[in-house]
Amino acid sequence: MTIRDNVADILRDLPEGVELVAAAKKRKPEEVLEAVEAGVRIVGENYVQEAEEAYACIGRKAEWHFIGHLQKNKVRKAVRLFDMIQTVDSVPLAREISRRCVQIGKVIPVLLEVNIGGEPQKSGLKPESIPGVLREVSVLTGIRVKGLMTIEPRLETPEAARPYFIRMRELFERLKEPALPGVEMRFLSMGMTSTYRIAIEEGANMVRIGTRIFGS
Ligand SMILES: *Cc1c(COP(=O)(O)O)cnc(C)c1O
Repeated sequence: MTIRDNVADILRDLPEGVELVAAAKKRKPEEVLEAVEAGVRIVGENYVQEAEEAYACIGRKAEWHFIGHLQKNKVRKAVRLFDMIQTVDSVPLAREISRRCVQIGKVIPVLLEVNIGGEPQKSGLKPESIPGVLREVSVLTGIRVKGLMTIEPRLETPEAARPYFIRMRELFERLKEPALPGVEMRFLSMGMTSTYRIAIEEGANMVRIGTRIFGS
């Protein structure tokens, strides 16, 4: 199976209204380009430098979403390159992203990353902290919150992830009302190669797929 075939299969399989993000970490720009030419509209990058290299090859043929752990010293570069940052996991990071966007006259859509499994080694906000975080970041003029993202715990079977996806969906729905100014709960980004079908069943409208597109 080529990258082109894999993308075609996945796109055929995805229900309407579900966005595919091709998770491109450690892939060559030519591989990412092949995925884009096969119909991928959004590329997800974990590293700013890798994204710059892929961007040099692909440019505006795709949208660029940051899906890795964003360090403060990379924010300045990241806000120039990316169309969305899916991994906002603290108020200070949100403030820095906003500050850097204001400097260049940009408003960047972001997702809040939720540590839905409560895993101590993982980044992401605690579910119960989200309402307070939303209030704090809704006043920032350089960002717009557009939803939630999670990396589910790695478990024995894909099915075992289902309760976490259900919890994310409940949180997402609860946060829709009352709506805060500058906050729109539109994207629920969850599900990867082994779990995306289950994530979609439980309400994901954005899935991030690497291995099933590019191989392992
Ligand atoms: C690597 C990665 C993915 C894709 O994982 P696969 O199992 O290869 O599909 C999705 N989201 C994030 C944040 C990733 O780092």
